[in-house]
Amino acid sequence: MGRVPAARPSVRVRAPAKVNLHLGVGPLRPDGYHELVNLFHAVDLVDEIIASPGDGLRVTVSGEGAADVPVDRRNLVWRAAELLADTADVPADARLDIHKAIPVAGGMAGGSADGAAALLACARLWNLDVGAAELAQLAARLGSDSNFALVGGTALGTGRGEVVAAVACVARLQWVFAIADHGVSAGAAYAELDRLRAAGMAPPPAGSVDALLAALAAGDLPRIAAGLVNDLQPATLSLAPALADTLKSGAAHGALAGLVSGSGPTCAFLCADAGAATLLAAGLEADGVCRTARVASGPAPGARVVG
Ligand code: ATP
Repeated sequence: MGRVPAARPSVRVRAPAKVNLHLGVGPLRPDGYHELVNLFHAVDLVDEIIASPGDGLRVTVSGEGAADVPVDRRNLVWRAAELLADTADVPADARLDIHKAIPVAGGMAGGSADGAAALLACARLWNLDVGAAELAQLAARLGSDSNFALVGGTALGTGRGEVVAAVACVARLQWVFAIADHGVSAGAAYAELDRLRAAGMAPPPAGSVDALLAALAAGDLPRIAAGLVNDLQPATLSLAPALADTLKSGAAHGALAGLVSGSGPTCAFLCADAGAATLLAAGLEADGVCRTARVASGPAPGARVVG
């Protein structure tokens, strides 16, 4: 990794939220992680990071859930900038302004998306000649979802979720995301799933992802809807029982399918088309089963420089 000429005053990068179309959670491994089969799908609900010249690191956050996001080293944007600076042996000098649209602790990997965006933004700001493979390696060190945020589209992750291979999704999928007025920690959701499984209170794990992959490749919306599955959902519903009403409301307002996104508490609803999505979002809000509802579509591109 070296420096190349042509400095920039500031760099704007957008990175997408994800919804898990299939989240299969295997048993707890000896290293404390679960073996996952994770079909990620990026949607055009995006955070924006603006990197500009600075002296040391400074992070600001505005937008959706900003008050709940740390602005120090705990922020993945800060960690991404430090990691890149250490690796490239350059000073970690940047002001990083995050504008959030992705719900915080919402199961849509907003922090990971911001980390991926910050890698890209700082690489450009500092004129580093860093290739896609090197960025992917750095992203994998930030968190298991940052790698996907760089690639976007629809992709299969295995292991802890970090190995990502693109898969075909020919249809444009229309979504509504019901955003809750609280977060759920991913760690708490996995721990609750372990507890439910140990007590024999969890449904059987998700089966093979193959039928869903075939449906995505064929653009077959009813089969895609039938194949959406999330092993974490019973755990998240156990921690946040009111979400059952959110899922019921989505079904009543015409969703083809509804499920908890990742560890939740955001609920994702697949819709027949954009018009159906607009009606569904209005219905969820009118029923008072979420703080706000956002319409989005996928697949969306991965983190990219927009200015
Ligand atoms: P995942 O689905 O990957 O488990 P999530 O979408 O549920 O994640 P995030 O919004 O990514 O949750 O963030 C979880 C926690 O990480 C937040 O509560 C916050 O304290 C911390 N965090 C660190 N950096 C960020 C960031 N840039 N944006 C949001 N949260 C961040």
